[in-house]
Amino acid sequence: MVSRVIPVQPFDLVVFGGTGDLARRKILPALFRRFCAGQMDGGARVIGAARGEMDGAAYRAFTRDAISEFGGDPVEMEAHLSAFLEQLDYVALDANGDDGWDDLVGRLDDGDRIRAFYFSVGPSLFGPLATRLYDHGLASPRCRIVVEKPFGRDRSSAQKLNAVLAQHFDETQIYRIDHYLGKETVQNLMAIRFANTLFEPLWNSQYVDHIQITVAESGGVGTRGGYYDKSGAMRDMVQNHIMQLLCLTAMEPPAKYDPDSVRDEKLKVIRALDPVEPEGVVRGQYEGTDTLPGYRNEVENRDTTTESFVALKARISNWRWAGTPFYLRTGKRLRARASEIAVVFKDAPHSIFGSDSGRHRNILTIRLQPNEGIEMGVTIKEPGPGGMRLVDVPLDMTFSEALGPQSEYVPDAYERLIMDVIRGDQTLFMRGDEVEAAWAWVDPIIERWDVAGTQPALYSTGSSGPDDALALIHRDGRRWREIRP
Ligand code: NAP
Repeated sequence: MVSRVIPVQPFDLVVFGGTGDLARRKILPALFRRFCAGQMDGGARVIGAARGEMDGAAYRAFTRDAISEFGGDPVEMEAHLSAFLEQLDYVALDANGDDGWDDLVGRLDDGDRIRAFYFSVGPSLFGPLATRLYDHGLASPRCRIVVEKPFGRDRSSAQKLNAVLAQHFDETQIYRIDHYLGKETVQNLMAIRFANTLFEPLWNSQYVDHIQITVAESGGVGTRGGYYDKSGAMRDMVQNHIMQLLCLTAMEPPAKYDPDSVRDEKLKVIRALDPVEPEGVVRGQYEGTDTLPGYRNEVENRDTTTESFVALKARISNWRWAGTPFYLRTGKRLRARASEIAVVFKDAPHSIFGSDSGRHRNILTIRLQPNEGIEMGVTIKEPGPGGMRLVDVPLDMTFSEALGPQSEYVPDAYERLIMDVIRGDQTLFMRGDEVEAAWAWVDPIIERWDVAGTQPALYSTGSSGPDDALALIHRDGRRWREIRP
């Protein structure tokens, strides 16, 4: 298999927050890998911007360290790192003041290059940055802005932020990032559904019993406790990442693979979601072990009721999905780091093999991590004598095995998404109305928790979450899939 890399047009990318954790771990290494792949051959300039005083040489040293720590293949580094670093520069500026802005304006090419501004700073700075870009004449119609998550903390704040951005930028210039959409498997979910005739006729409540979406992490909040405790699993995971996975799984086929066709269909799914009943949602908090602190000991507020786990049952009221529940769960300090979408098909209408053959179901599993890939569970006869014994086996399509050595390298989501910004393709970014609609579904759940003041259910580190979450699905005569590494 030959990989096709088409260089993007020359561009200038300003990374506000260019010295922060996200820039260090994700953005700069992603840019380096695209550079190595030849995608930035058209000529690119990357300017880090933050308040800290440093010159271009110091920023290049910072980037060199970041790349060697997070994603530098030694062979690629030897071959390409120096050339990549030559494209980097740094400007000290304050998003909340006027310091440094003239310097930035002076450094930006006013030629015909594509210009993108990546807002990799705390969310309170998204609005001020948009305003300062405008005030300094940088918000030209041809530029793009990339806005990190979280996009608001409820519908009202998301609306306000959308309004501020809309004062200076057209919706076609705003790239709200959800890195889950940049994952290869997530895009493959659309390919599986819409490029094969096999699945789509079965992709509805007539054939699908239920769908499970799991995003499980084995680690705790660690050093992110301060941020996480103000957010919780519902805001940090469900409103954005899990909602996006739900939308792509449930949406109608868009007429075209273009930004608005895809996003229109996703929005329809969100709008068709029923409100979640109190008994349809469970929240939890992990307990510590002999060696690891519990959630409450990892955050400042020892009485916190913020959830590190959520499980819920969602229903989509439309023709395709009426009667097929979507069970969603996410949490920290669970048994393993494992994320997947499992489409569980209904039992065969009649078993010709008798009751001894047991219960068998086809399950299509889309694995997001680890080992991105797709697996179809089918039932076959167990080989050998002894009558008609049935056994479930996986038809496994781990990308690296199915597509050969060239595909062993699965690009990080940020690589794909940053190049999409430069290409001007918004398909894998969230539109403003989509984000607001997602908050509108999530807000009442959070408000109910706040009003009731109840405590989250405790669960053991290394478990599958609180017992109440098991009960949530057992009540319906179903069970969660095992969380496996
Ligand atoms: P961080 O480590 O705290 O870095 C913040 C960056 O912003 C630093 O470079 C900081 O440098 C700069 N900054 C702060 N105040 C500034 C100001 N007034 N003007 C200009 N620059 C300023 O944060 P992060 O973890 O990188 O997160 C950045 C954004 O990405 C946040 O919105 C976060 O929610 C989102 N995000 C992060 C991750 C992650 O894994 N880290 C994942 C998903 C989303 P100075 O202090 O020198 O100014």
